[in-house]
Amino acid sequence: MTLFTLGPVQTHQSVRVAMAQDIAPWNYRFRNLLVRVQEKILKIANGNSAHVALPFPAPGHFVNEATIRSLTKIDGKILIPVTDCEKSYTNRLAKIARESKRQVVPLLVKDTSSVTAELVYTALEKDREIKHVAIVYSETGSGIVNDIKSIGEAVRLNNCRMIVDAVSAFGALPFDFEQHPECDAITFTSGKCLEGMPGLGFVIARKDAIKLNQGQAESQSMDLADVLNYYETVGPGYFRFTPPAQVIAALDVALTRLEQEGGPKARLRRYRNNADIIYNRLSDIGLTPYLKQAEQGPIVVNAHWPSASFDFYGFITELIKKDIVISGFYTTQSPTIRIGAIGAIGEVEVGHALLEIEKALHLK
Ligand SMILES: *Cc1c(COP(=O)(O)O)cnc(C)c1O
Repeated sequence: MTLFTLGPVQTHQSVRVAMAQDIAPWNYRFRNLLVRVQEKILKIANGNSAHVALPFPAPGHFVNEATIRSLTKIDGKILIPVTDCEKSYTNRLAKIARESKRQVVPLLVKDTSSVTAELVYTALEKDREIKHVAIVYSETGSGIVNDIKSIGEAVRLNNCRMIVDAVSAFGALPFDFEQHPECDAITFTSGKCLEGMPGLGFVIARKDAIKLNQGQAESQSMDLADVLNYYETVGPGYFRFTPPAQVIAALDVALTRLEQEGGPKARLRRYRNNADIIYNRLSDIGLTPYLKQAEQGPIVVNAHWPSASFDFYGFITELIKKDIVISGFYTTQSPTIRIGAIGAIGEVEVGHALLEIEKALHLK
């Protein structure tokens, strides 16, 4: 099977093999492994001694919730873009914030448009009570990548703090804490652009921001202040609860592969190439891409269904028979075919998948 999905993604065999062992997580070997993984991760984000990379045995939604709960105040105002698509990841972020009793100030954008720095600037200028902006870097629903650099600047100029959901970005799209003094935290997981196994979430956060908001989480398992306190008192490499040790061992191998590939820059180039091939070919096959080329990011490409009566289930079943897996659902405002460009795949795998997609489309 080759996965063209958005997480779990296709992994390299060496990453999968690293899981095939029993691990006693409380000894020095495992602790060294975890500390090494944390250091590598902090380095990718160019973090310094003000930051900490905290692992969380959970998927992305959980880390996002822990981050919102731990880095903002109850009843505090957070600016969050929302789209006209219920399934967009930014809407999920807004839902998490609302259910954590934060006041979400929604910034409405179309599912097919990126969030601009101007929109963020204007919204912050209008409401001086807003203290935080939470933004999805790569919107895995539509495939749009938001310009974090200029949005960060807008946040900075308004003396607000930024939280970045970098779940489908980290490891490929650039992020540098030194260029983002306004950023309190970024979140991501092991199973997307890092090309590890799923099961581990991470937040890289400013320690001062965690301490400043201590007591706001109203949760024990979601409280980053408690995670940080454990880390600082019990010691590096200790996990508060049972760690997904094999997932961490696999991530260590995956991070070495990322280095060998040439780091996030090289990985982004490969993903961009995959996405471009998919985008251009879909037009040739007769499908209409969901986004205009200028908005098309390098992570996922969506195309409209060929017709309203399209047998989507039959289509993906046909692909599975050929060992090709694409998303079995869509995350756009109107029905789409959703093809991931990330994971341990390159133009050979993408080219082969597109041939099979073309055949499956013209089967009837
Ligand atoms: C995948 C993803 C998440 C989290 O998804 P989980 O299934 O909870 O791991 C959050 N935000 C974005 C942008 C994502 O791509």
